[in-house]
Amino acid sequence: MYLSQLFIPLIKNLPTEAKIKSHQLMIRTGMIKQSSSGIYSWLPLGFKVMKKIEQIVREEQNHIGAQEMLMPTIQSSEIWKESGRYDDYGDEMLRIKDRQGREMLYGPTNEELITDVFRSSVKSYKSLPQILYHIQWKFRDEIRPRFGVMRCKEFYMKDAYSFDISDEDAKKSYNKMFYSYLKTFSRIGLKAIPMSAATGPIGGDLSHEFIILADTGESKIFADKKIFDIDINKYKFDDASLTRMRNDFTNIYAATDEKYNKDEFNNKVSKDNQVITKGIEVGHIFYFGDKYSKPMNCFIDDKNGKKITVKMGSYGIGVSRLVAAVIEANYNNDVMKWPKTISPFDVVIIPSFTKNNTENLRKAEKVYLELKKQNIDVLLDDVDENMSNKFKKHDLIGVPFQIIIGSKSEGDNLEFKELNSTSEILSLSNIKSKLRI
Ligand code: ATP
Ligand code: MG
Repeated sequence: MYLSQLFIPLIKNLPTEAKIKSHQLMIRTGMIKQSSSGIYSWLPLGFKVMKKIEQIVREEQNHIGAQEMLMPTIQSSEIWKESGRYDDYGDEMLRIKDRQGREMLYGPTNEELITDVFRSSVKSYKSLPQILYHIQWKFRDEIRPRFGVMRCKEFYMKDAYSFDISDEDAKKSYNKMFYSYLKTFSRIGLKAIPMSAATGPIGGDLSHEFIILADTGESKIFADKKIFDIDINKYKFDDASLTRMRNDFTNIYAATDEKYNKDEFNNKVSKDNQVITKGIEVGHIFYFGDKYSKPMNCFIDDKNGKKITVKMGSYGIGVSRLVAAVIEANYNNDVMKWPKTISPFDVVIIPSFTKNNTENLRKAEKVYLELKKQNIDVLLDDVDENMSNKFKKHDLIGVPFQIIIGSKSEGDNLEFKELNSTSEILSLSNIKSKLRI
C-alpha cells in the first residue's frame, strides 16, 4: 500500500476529548472515528489491527476445540424472560420494538441465545462436551462511555460457551479456556494476569478476569509479582497439565479490589513481592453450572436415561478493547511500536526524495515490489514531505520496522531500523529473513 492512497486521516494536534494515550493515538492516526457517544467507526488502519487480533483469538479458540458460529446481534426478549434476566439487566440493555410491537433487544451477551440453540439441538450426553463461540458486536448502554473503544457502547467481543455433563468435566473446559486466553494474550504481546473475580450479573461461583497492567486501567489490582514469571508455553495441552497450570496461577495471590482482602494479601505475599497497581480487563471467564440451563429447561439424557441439566460456562474477550489495551501497553514517549503479530503493516519503506529528485522513491518502489512478492505487507511512504516529519508520523503509526532509503542506503545495502533501536545496514535478503521470523 502506498501511504498517499491509504485512507488515514492523520490529526496533528492532541484531541482534547481524549484523556488516555490509546484514545489520543487512535484518533490522531485515524484508526477510529466517533459517530455518537460510545459508538465508533473503525477506519482502515484500526480495522486492520482489530482483524489481526480477531484472527489470533480465533486460532487459539479453534486450537482448544471450540467451534465458531455466528449468532445475531438482535435478540427476542422471550428467552431473557425465561432466564429471569430481562428485568435484572437494567438500563445497560438497549431495548427495541419491531413493527409488530414485539420486544427485541440488541444483545449485550449471549448466554440465553446459545442455551436456546443448544436445547433445541442436543438431547443426549453422547454429544457432549461442546464449546461454541462467535465473534460479534455487542451493545451495552454504558452509563459513562469513555476512553474511546476501551469503554464504549457498541464493541466487538468473542464470547464462547461450554456445555458439559458434570461439574468435573465443566472444570476441564474452564481450564482449556484459561489456557487458550493466556496463549492468545501472549501472542498479542501482552502479559495478562488471571485474577480471581466476582461474578456480577452473569452469576456462578468460579470466575477469573484477565488483566493487563496499565496506569490508566479501571481495575485496582493486588498481586504477588511471582505471577509474572509463569510461562504459559511450558504447559502441554492435556487435562493433567492444564490442572497444574491453573493451580500454578491460582496458588499465587492476585485479585482485583472486589475480591481483595488486606490481611490475606499481607499474610500470603512478602512486602517485597507486593504489586499494587491498576489494570485493564481484557477477558473474563465464568463457570455457572445450571444457572441458565435450569430455568430454560436445557436438559439432556445421561447414560442411564435420566434427565439432567447441562453444566455451562461462558468466556469473553474484548476484541475491540484489546486494540486500545495494546496501545496502552506499548505507546511510550511519543513512539508507538505495534507487536509484530498485529501490526497494521510488516514494514514501512521511507525514501528521502523531493519533487525534483525522485531517484530514492524509484528505488523504494523496486524494494516494495520485491517484498510484496514474498507476501510481506509493506507500506511505502510516497508522500512528499521532509524526513523529520516523516519519522515523527511513523513513530505514531507504529509499524515496527523501517527501511530508510536515503544517504546510508547504497545499492543492495539498505538502512534498516527497528523502532526504538538504532539502524543497521543490511542486504535486502537479510531484511527479508528478518521480517519473516
Ligand atoms: P467491565 O467490568 O469492564 O464492564 P464486564 O465484566 O462487564 O466488563 P464481560 O461481560 O465479562 O465484561 O465482557 C467480556 C469482555 O468484553 C470484557 O473483559 C471486556 O474486555 C469487554 N467489554 C465489556 N464491556 C465493554 C465495553 N463497554 N466496551 C468495550 N469492551 C467491553
Ligand atoms: Mg460491564
